[in-house]
Amino acid sequence: MSDFFAGPRHNPSFEGLGYAHNRLDRDTEHRTEATLKDRMAHDRARFYLFDGDRLLVRVKPDRFDPLYCQKMASELGADMDRVILLGTDPVEDNAPRLAAPLLPERAAAYEEHADYQLETVRAVGLKDMLPADQLGAVAQARSLLNWHDTHQYCAKCGAKTHVALAGARRDCPSCEAVHFPRTDPVVIMLAIHRDAEGVERCLLARHTRFEDPMFSTLAGFMEQGETLEDAVRREIFEEAGVRIGAVRYLASQPWPFPSSLMLGCFAEALSTDLTLDDTELGEAHWYSREALKVMMERPVGSPEPHVPGGFSIAHWLIKEWAEADPA
Ligand SMILES: [Zn+2]
Repeated sequence: MSDFFAGPRHNPSFEGLGYAHNRLDRDTEHRTEATLKDRMAHDRARFYLFDGDRLLVRVKPDRFDPLYCQKMASELGADMDRVILLGTDPVEDNAPRLAAPLLPERAAAYEEHADYQLETVRAVGLKDMLPADQLGAVAQARSLLNWHDTHQYCAKCGAKTHVALAGARRDCPSCEAVHFPRTDPVVIMLAIHRDAEGVERCLLARHTRFEDPMFSTLAGFMEQGETLEDAVRREIFEEAGVRIGAVRYLASQPWPFPSSLMLGCFAEALSTDLTLDDTELGEAHWYSREALKVMMERPVGSPEPHVPGGFSIAHWLIKEWAEADPA
């Protein structure tokens, strides 16, 4: 066993990590065909409404309100035939939380509206428009509505499928296949090298899609039949040409664009020579903890080299390592 990740590390709280805090009780296991109707009729049922990737929020003097009762959801133009159940909210006396798309012909009314705004799920998160523990439910709703929207037909026989278990599944009446929502795992990892003297440095890269000098971790989709560890090793080698030994998982983050799960890891670099995939990476360097602490002080958007903000798991990987005691 490698002792590479041994040693004291502080306990991360990941406060502010986007979409990662979801307090709803999904209770998928106990749902029946009667559940949706029952939850929709609950007098404290509240609905999130979406136009594609955009959430409808009501602008209040002191906050944004993204939840509507059934009557209001109908009046605002919700497609009540496409409602799904997210779960129940234990903080609100187990009141049901549901989601529905807006009818396309009704969504246009909110483009320029005094009381309502359509905001992308990304903007809702980055602009801190909702409490952190509501953002997880919004991510869940956005991913699930997108999945229903793009899985109207059976992948096996092509027949029209229908919603089952209040939105937790789609069933095919023709061939009886059952279809469950997909989540696409993505590995995101901080490669760390320790030299012969015990000095550690980590690898950060500026992605070609970033205009700012923002330096972040490497990341990539997992492939079929691949372990988490092998995906980390493959991605770092493909993107930077670095060989990886041990891999340690830190934490995960739902990323609802449309349905990814970011799996944050540390990776032990066995080599330091860089061969960059220049379609993805503009530049990459090895950084000391001291250098990272300076970069972490700078805000996102700074003209000086900086790291991603606390909304992304990349930030927490960098912070956890930068603040760790290397002893
Ligand atoms: Zn079928």
